[in-house]
Amino acid sequence: MDCIFCKIIEGAIPSNKAYEDEYMLAFHDINPQAPVHILVIPKEHIPSADGVNAENSAVIAKIFEAIPKIAAAAGLKNGYRVITNCGDDACQTVKHLHFHIMGGKKLPENMG
Ligand code: 5GP
Ligand code: ZN
Repeated sequence: MDCIFCKIIEGAIPSNKAYEDEYMLAFHDINPQAPVHILVIPKEHIPSADGVNAENSAVIAKIFEAIPKIAAAAGLKNGYRVITNCGDDACQTVKHLHFHIMGGKKLPENMG
């Protein structure tokens, strides 16, 4: 499968890691949109939020358990935004489920 994030998980493409465990990898976005911009991805290939189901949803809970730790380690004391773009209308460019953690400044109120 030609998935850039699966290649990052395998180590075939390098990344600046923020956190890793058996379920997920978190790494800094190559094109940050905020002072802190981290992507959290499940190690299992799930194409998007639209591909979450009863069989694979446990990893989503694990990711949301890890997000506060990842945010704290990145110094996000004053809040942060968690975003997942799903499908073409949301401008999802990488078809491997990922959660953007963004912060380190006051983010725009308007989300679209
Ligand atoms: P999307 O638009 O699909 O929600 O977000 C994809 C994100 O992945 C973008 O913010 C983009 O900058 C990031 N990205 C794409 N390719 C790479 C890569 O090879 N390495 C890293 N670290 N980030 C990437
Ligand atoms: Zn993948």
